[in-house]
Amino acid sequence: MLPYDSLSLSNAPFFAAFQSRFASILEKGWFILGEQLHNFEKNFAAYCGVTHCVGVGSGLDALILALKALDLPAGSEVIVPAHTYVATILAVLHNQLTPILVEPDAQTYNISPQKIEAALTKRTKAILVVHLYGKLCEMDKISEIATKNGLFLIEDAAQAHGASRCGQKAGSFGNLAAFSFYPTKNLGALGDGGGITTSDPILAEKIQILRNYGSKIKYHNEIIGYNSRLDELQAAFLSLKLEKLDAINAHKRALANLYLTQLKSDFILPSVEKDYQDVYHIFNIRHPKRDSLRQYLLKNQIQTEIHYPIPPHQQEALRHLAAFQPYQKKGALPITELIHQTTLSLPISYAHTPTDIARVIDVLNAF
Ligand SMILES: *Cc1c(COP(=O)(O)O)cnc(C)c1O
Repeated sequence: MLPYDSLSLSNAPFFAAFQSRFASILEKGWFILGEQLHNFEKNFAAYCGVTHCVGVGSGLDALILALKALDLPAGSEVIVPAHTYVATILAVLHNQLTPILVEPDAQTYNISPQKIEAALTKRTKAILVVHLYGKLCEMDKISEIATKNGLFLIEDAAQAHGASRCGQKAGSFGNLAAFSFYPTKNLGALGDGGGITTSDPILAEKIQILRNYGSKIKYHNEIIGYNSRLDELQAAFLSLKLEKLDAINAHKRALANLYLTQLKSDFILPSVEKDYQDVYHIFNIRHPKRDSLRQYLLKNQIQTEIHYPIPPHQQEALRHLAAFQPYQKKGALPITELIHQTTLSLPISYAHTPTDIARVIDVLNAF
């Protein structure tokens, strides 16, 4: 069976380095808010092209704390993509803000700048974009809309570590950006982890305080904070993997190129835009008979995934909320629903070889 992903294989090249770093941290005996985190934050900020990174407990926490740091009045509207992982929308709800769902562009699957403009109201305070599957949104257009309308711009970069356009990287376009270091992400830890990047020193300090019980000085609590810190072990593992992030992304991009050039035209392939360097967190194809295609691949010993089977506005937890009633009408979010019904994610990990992908392509082309 060809697995969709194998974390033990993807991490195998790092085993020896992980073990020696683990041993030295164990000997030192310092596990929270120490030198490992400090170094990772410095290096990841530099990698993204910003001045600050604040390590937190998860990608969801990064989103929640980024929004929290902006101190928006309760009920303010935040523009979010309708087609995203549910975490993006949960972060808005956990801040007592109102998510306004905006349809994706039908080619890129990322939030449509034109539709953002159409969704703005007097209550809009922020735009939260998602660089879905590892492809940057159209940030020049979206930044312009944010500036013109006096809105905060936040990036959910959980799937886009290292994605760039003309050299500018994900995490450096907005006032703030949230990253996840969940194990399967392009830069993945050995447990949960997240980070916020920014070039705003005031926001960075606010988040440093928020993540640590609202305190800068031990036992002095200035604001009502959280406990959400990227721990020393995860920070150390991430620093080791960060050195290889460009190689990991290049590997995935090379595998994506095999799919892009060799799959037959029955499948709708991801779009490729000039000047954009996608990092293919996910390589998705679309097909009207998605479910039978997935069964067929499984019968041929190839595992796939679906990102995602149920769109956020149809989730049990959300669809009864008042803010989600406008989206319950049939056809309210047709592009989002069509993508969810037809998308299939193919194997594309650091552990997969060109030979693996050639087999997937052969089987797919015989469908
Ligand atoms: C993974 C992911 C998150 C959440 O990250 P966690 O670390 O699992 O909390 C948020 N947004 C998107 C787009 C993601 O893919």
